[in-house]
Amino acid sequence: MKTFVICLDSFKPEYLKSTPFLRELTRDNSWGSLETVFGYTGIGAAIISGKYPEVTGIWREFCFSDSSPFKLIRYFESIEHTCLGKVTRLATDILFNLSRFMTNHGYYTSTRIIPFSLLPMVEPAMRSAWCQKGCLPVETIFDYLREKKTNFFYHDWPSVYKNNQRKFSFLQPNNDKFKVDLLLKEIPNHDFFWIRLWNLDSVSHNNDRGSKPLTSALLELDNHIKGLFTAMGQEEFKFLLWSDHGMVKVTRNVDVSKLLSGLESKFLVDSTSIRFYNVEPTESMEIMKRLKTTPGYFLDEGLKKKYKLGKLKKYGELFFLANPGVCFLPNNYSVSTVRGMHGYDPKIPEQKGIYLTNMISSDRKDLHITDLFQVIKSNL
Ligand SMILES: [Zn+2]
Repeated sequence: MKTFVICLDSFKPEYLKSTPFLRELTRDNSWGSLETVFGYTGIGAAIISGKYPEVTGIWREFCFSDSSPFKLIRYFESIEHTCLGKVTRLATDILFNLSRFMTNHGYYTSTRIIPFSLLPMVEPAMRSAWCQKGCLPVETIFDYLREKKTNFFYHDWPSVYKNNQRKFSFLQPNNDKFKVDLLLKEIPNHDFFWIRLWNLDSVSHNNDRGSKPLTSALLELDNHIKGLFTAMGQEEFKFLLWSDHGMVKVTRNVDVSKLLSGLESKFLVDSTSIRFYNVEPTESMEIMKRLKTTPGYFLDEGLKKKYKLGKLKKYGELFFLANPGVCFLPNNYSVSTVRGMHGYDPKIPEQKGIYLTNMISSDRKDLHITDLFQVIKSNL
């Protein structure tokens, strides 16, 4: 029987009001809210392995590193904000991804907008795509599929794999319609399908609930799923629709550039957190003083335990986390204000995602993202 695991990036339970087909599906299938792990990239690691960052070692997209692949960019620091600087960044991104492609490490990314002064000491935490062998130090769903010799199709743009064969996909459009059409074409060739639909995430970062763009993005997503069910017709199949997080309304954007200027320590800003590296004891007092009136809190040992982060020193030594609804600017990804953000304490309701599946037969029950690993595995 074919199995479809589809990520509806940023889908919150309340969106069911605007998605008639998905709402209909909740009648005869199991569904509930889905608590995710704290952070960003660690969420993907959690669903494929059932483990928290303390075990997977994956928490944020970038970590601090002595073997950064971006070391040479230090020579271009003085031209960072010129046209030539932009060309240098683009060339760096192309070369970086090309080297990943050549060495068969399928987790593609870019330097985002991390300052040139910082890039020589950071690197992306993930190297291989989620479906690749050895991408995490623990067993993944895809290891299990390999073991069972199940044909799989994996699409998390720009990483596309048919079984263990990567496909060159950089020139394919990163839009949901294209991905769903491709999925429909691939149905006869595989038994397990893993795809991620992304459009809702970017729309909900920039538009409020009830706005026209968000309402139409939800309807579009609803139609994509309806299209898959229609294509399957009477054939029985298993499905798990899940989202990696919800979206919290941003009520305050805080410019941290002036607040933290002149500090000796290096730091990365991830929208909802500031991570300091190589902090001298005298400077940690200064950092705390400067952030005293900023709405947020420092991560202490108790919270590290609560979020199951383990000893992830490579991500930083001192962490300041935003209160829900607060976004730090400029950050690794953006200089402009947004209307929605995720990456807050996973316990708050707005931050929760959703699951909807016919793989378990319980009544509505809220789950944690690490539970889904077992749900998928036991259905293969
Ligand atoms: Zn997002």
